[in-house]
Amino acid sequence: MLQDADQLLAVGQEMQSWVTESDLINLKPVELFSAIYRRTSEYLTNGIPVEEAYFPATDLNADLKGIPLGEDSSDTAGKYVRTNYARMSEILAEHKPSLRKRLRKKGYREELDVEVISKPGDPRKYYQLKLVRIPESDDAESSSEPKSDPGIAVYSVRQLPKFLPWAKPFAELTLSGWRRSLFVGGMVTLFCAPLAVFLLAIIGGQLLLWHVLVGSAAAILLWLFKPLIDVVERSIVRAPDWMLRLNDVDVQLELREVGAQDNGLPLRQIRLVKYEAECPVCGGNMAVVSGKREFRGRMVGQCSRSRSEHLYSFDHISKRGVPLRTNGYYRGRDV
Ligand SMILES: [Zn+2]
Repeated sequence: MLQDADQLLAVGQEMQSWVTESDLINLKPVELFSAIYRRTSEYLTNGIPVEEAYFPATDLNADLKGIPLGEDSSDTAGKYVRTNYARMSEILAEHKPSLRKRLRKKGYREELDVEVISKPGDPRKYYQLKLVRIPESDDAESSSEPKSDPGIAVYSVRQLPKFLPWAKPFAELTLSGWRRSLFVGGMVTLFCAPLAVFLLAIIGGQLLLWHVLVGSAAAILLWLFKPLIDVVERSIVRAPDWMLRLNDVDVQLELREVGAQDNGLPLRQIRLVKYEAECPVCGGNMAVVSGKREFRGRMVGQCSRSRSEHLYSFDHISKRGVPLRTNGYYRGRDV
């Protein structure tokens, strides 16, 4: 199944709370799970793609023993982690019913497993968290879940890119109520005031060099910060290039709910995120881009193989998309 960074972090967080509350946390083998989860969450929040979040025994050995990396030989480390891994699997299997009950109650249909993987040409073993669907037979409620439709695009988060240093202040920005209005109002005033100076100068016929400079500076600032105003209005927009590292492409700027305020209203935060999907028509990679022409003002899923035909809508809340072209693609590959 597709690994989704958002889902992985959420299920992991829930499993962490579960081990803490059930006192399993004090068992060394269970600490292994926590160590892998901690490292994974650190990787993901630092913009590393979900499939690259795997860790060698040497790192985990150091975490478990609280010793510096390299103090134990890789043989010792490998053995220690292997033993704990086997025991961890046993403990988790034993307590699975209680874990699954809790996850289901919270609305999750997946649990996390630790998988041991190896890389071609690398003798080392790596440990990686994997989302695994809770089996149907174990989950009476799942029968009511609609079956996945092959004509629908399913988006997942592979990567949470990092803001470049100068764009970082926006990552900590939490917007709520008056602060949100102040943010938008402040931004608009910031650009409109200098533009007004410029326009008044034109109307008055007294255009001086500093009027032109102030006007141009306002226009540049407006262009730079427009996405921030848009994201407050539209919740998700294309992230501007000046916030991103060179190799981050097709990244979105998303305003999402991160909790509730004291007065019950949602607390919102801006983040960078990269939604992707497999194209339901051809199986190609689908990126989320700004819609052009008839889809202006919307974000759409666009297949890299057929940029103007394989187009899907994009809903960042349900993470689903329906075909935007009504020319029979809906039936996809079986026709
Ligand atoms: Zn396609």
